[in-house]
Amino acid sequence: MAQSEPGKVYVHTFGCQMNAYDTGKIRALLGRDGWESTQDPDQADLVLLNTCSIREKAVDKMHSVLGEFRREKREGRQVLLGVAGCVAQMEGEALMKRYPDVDLVFGPDGVPHVRKLVDEVAAGNRVLDTTFLDLETYPFVTDLDPDASSGVGAFVTIQKGCDNKCTYCIVPATRGAEASRPSEQILDECRRLVAEGVQEITLIGQNVNSYGLKVPGERTFAQLLYAVADIPGVERIRYTTSHPRDMGDDVIAAYRDLPQLTSHLHLPVQSGSNKVLRRMKRFYTRERYLRIVDGLREARPDLALTTDVIVGFPGETDEQFEETMTLLDEVGFVGSFSFKYSPRPGTPSLRLKEGYDDAVSGERLIRYQDRQRELSLAWTRSHEGQVVRVLVEGESRHDEGVVAGRTGSNLMVNFPGSLDLIGQFVDVRVTRGFTHSSRGERVTPPTGG
Ligand code: SF4
Repeated sequence: MAQSEPGKVYVHTFGCQMNAYDTGKIRALLGRDGWESTQDPDQADLVLLNTCSIREKAVDKMHSVLGEFRREKREGRQVLLGVAGCVAQMEGEALMKRYPDVDLVFGPDGVPHVRKLVDEVAAGNRVLDTTFLDLETYPFVTDLDPDASSGVGAFVTIQKGCDNKCTYCIVPATRGAEASRPSEQILDECRRLVAEGVQEITLIGQNVNSYGLKVPGERTFAQLLYAVADIPGVERIRYTTSHPRDMGDDVIAAYRDLPQLTSHLHLPVQSGSNKVLRRMKRFYTRERYLRIVDGLREARPDLALTTDVIVGFPGETDEQFEETMTLLDEVGFVGSFSFKYSPRPGTPSLRLKEGYDDAVSGERLIRYQDRQRELSLAWTRSHEGQVVRVLVEGESRHDEGVVAGRTGSNLMVNFPGSLDLIGQFVDVRVTRGFTHSSRGERVTPPTGG
């Protein structure tokens, strides 16, 4: 099917912030050619699924969403269908063969060229592009996501790909080797976002702490943080994802120096057992992780830490799992993304000789998550009665006349307030803590007097 004029494009995003960011760039680039972004899939002339392969569930979901669009197409709907992202990278050729009604398949490195790819598809061709681009000249997209710039916070990518080889992870295979984006380009994007009203910048990459290390003369990650903090109007800086192995003293010191750096850090630990960490090829120990936490807390006593954990990794014994449980308490994580090990095609962990037991992993996951919930609740409740400063991000998803703001430590507070508070810093008293959020009331009069 050919599409003579650009129409409406709908991009469905699965997975992580990197994918959400890529989606924004796709919308921005296609917008240059006149493609109008829509949130309504029924209106779209071009549907792109930006996919995630990190977990089986996400892959299954994408096949079912794709199946729905393919059915509509078979029934006569005029629509171009594309699959982008990590599943496209992994299954490129196979997807094209399996789904003859899919017009376009491209991996994460196809994003900078999406205009050309869509042009070819609109001309009536089927297109597959899973080539990795040259790292030295990687064309980071500088166009702003039209939707990102209308919010109070925005993501800014600082690198692509990953040079680590964590044995459970598919990212190095789908997103390729690491390339650091030139810092001047990053700072320019931050300035443009601030000019659009953005106050909170989240720097994103697969392993932000290794930013710039392989590029002679480039800023380090710590130096980048200082440079972003120097931009007038940047009120808050967050970043993700951090790898403990590359967390340097200079980044820890930034928590002492930079008030813009928020008091929340997501620092994935994955396991509390050194033996498991070794099999995961994480290249740090539990002791090193705890030393980093001590250093961070010395620099920023109110720092709230969240983490990623995989339970039931191949060969994980009861004792090794208990070490993860004791680490959870020792650090006092306020939140975790926790999963049971899932054998993903293409990951090195499939070659480990140690086995795993899905049922045992399931039981361990329940125990971990139960304890995490208790800790999360204790943390939110510890704020009850306190006055905290939040940046108001939007309307509450559940209650009318209620807005939601976030503290620097990432506590979500819902409180009665009008929509004109969005984008403002407001003092609220926390009245009730729940597991993932809290309720509060504003303590300054609406006039600001
Ligand atoms: S650091 Fe490890 S877990 Fe993170 S993207 Fe790279 S390989 Fe995957």
